[in-house]
Amino acid sequence: MTAIPAPALVVLVGPSGSGKTTWARQHFASNEIVSSDALRAVVGSGEGDLDASDDAFAVLDAVVAARTRRGLTTVIDTLGLDPARRAAAVTTGRAAGLPVVAVRFATALDLCRQRNRLRDRPVPALVLTAQFRKAADADLAADGFDVITVAQPELVLEPAHAPGGSAAAAAQRDRPAGLRFALQISAFPWGADPTRPRQWLAEVARTAEQAGFAGIAVMDHLLQIPQVGRVWDPIPEAYVTLGYLAGVTERLELGALVTPVTFRSAPLLAKIIASLDAVSGGRAFCGLGAGWYEREHAAYDLPFPEVRTRLDTLVETIGTLRAFWGPGTKPHGRSPETTCYPRPGRVPIIVGGGGERRTLRIAAELADGCNLGSSLPVLDHKLTVLRGHLERNGRTIDDLKVTVLDLPIVGNDPDQVGRLVEAHRGRTSAKAYAATHHAGTVAQQVGRYRLLADRGVQTVFVSLPDLTGPAEIERFAPIVQAFSG
Ligand code: GDP
Ligand code: MG
Repeated sequence: MTAIPAPALVVLVGPSGSGKTTWARQHFASNEIVSSDALRAVVGSGEGDLDASDDAFAVLDAVVAARTRRGLTTVIDTLGLDPARRAAAVTTGRAAGLPVVAVRFATALDLCRQRNRLRDRPVPALVLTAQFRKAADADLAADGFDVITVAQPELVLEPAHAPGGSAAAAAQRDRPAGLRFALQISAFPWGADPTRPRQWLAEVARTAEQAGFAGIAVMDHLLQIPQVGRVWDPIPEAYVTLGYLAGVTERLELGALVTPVTFRSAPLLAKIIASLDAVSGGRAFCGLGAGWYEREHAAYDLPFPEVRTRLDTLVETIGTLRAFWGPGTKPHGRSPETTCYPRPGRVPIIVGGGGERRTLRIAAELADGCNLGSSLPVLDHKLTVLRGHLERNGRTIDDLKVTVLDLPIVGNDPDQVGRLVEAHRGRTSAKAYAATHHAGTVAQQVGRYRLLADRGVQTVFVSLPDLTGPAEIERFAPIVQAFSG
């Protein structure tokens, strides 16, 4: 099966009643479909107002030109029988840098006839036969389309940001691979009612647990970061929040993604995480990073040395955590003793960040896991660098758990995906926002996550940009289940 790329300019080719409009509505958002019938009803008296055809096609051409110029997926829902119009579409799409796709509808003539007879305004029988022949004879290769395919009921569009995703989705259906998901809660839209925060957190966490997530992470920030929200949006202290989450959940692993080593002395951090591990029944993990947000350090009177020093501190902190969590007590660094009770179980240390010269080297040398961005081409590059660092330390990729941070827009259908992108894109263009947030339907996301699993990713930390409460987690649940094998 040939994958249809997205975004793209898609031209439908088939006689009346072959199922073009029905198919387009199943696979594309309604505003992505530009239909000559619908436009006849806009500029004329109704879909069947053939006298309005010229005007309808003029509007259609203007809409197609405007959408493709913005890099937006556009489906031309006409009969597609005029070679000159098909060639013009190819030119328009190519000028906009979009792949141009022809979709042929190979529905049998008898079925088209049956459907045609049921219509309010059937096409005359001879006209339908002529359309059928013309569609069958259309030389789409000569028109210059990049992709020529036959309409299939099952279709996973392949977003440009996840090449191979369509085949990967099929592979996940046939031969499922495992992949763990952790919910990253980055924003806390619990409203103004002072009784809500604890309910909101409990509802979100329990929904995640029921949905099959393996863990919950919170950011360790003292001010809400500009990538997520406004500085006056609520962001509760990470380990207080995790302690509460430990009390309202049974199974989820809990940790910060990531704790800046600049916030607390390393022994104090060891104490806090050991305590989290105790009150959660051994479910703590430790995400660790060098810190980057200068403003929160200034506000909270914390030192913010240059990056080189912070990375040195990252190395030291890993050593101190292990010393304080290990058996016995002895002097370590500036501490005369490493007395830290309760002793935690084995708490995995996950180093966050993609800095190639130092951060990835620190992860490769010292950590149990790393946390990288989920964008595929970037991830491939980081994994290559990481493998190099691991090799130089006599380790392999199997010795380090690869995790990614993913901020996906997930919709149940193309219309919902489009609405969510529009609601959250801010001043970023829809095309750019959709690409950086891997916007897609549940089926498309399954394909993309399979590509991550195939690259050896063990856990995906999912931060939903549209998270308001349990509803968005439930929408994500089928994805988690597709990988829970
Ligand atoms: P178009 O003229 O090519 O756009 O065809 P439509 O999509 O409008 O379909 C014509 C009629 O066939 C409609 O009543 C549809 O409900 C029906 N139809 C289209 N595709 C299918 C299909 O895959 N299965 C079934 N059962 N009916 C279909
Ligand atoms: Mg139609």
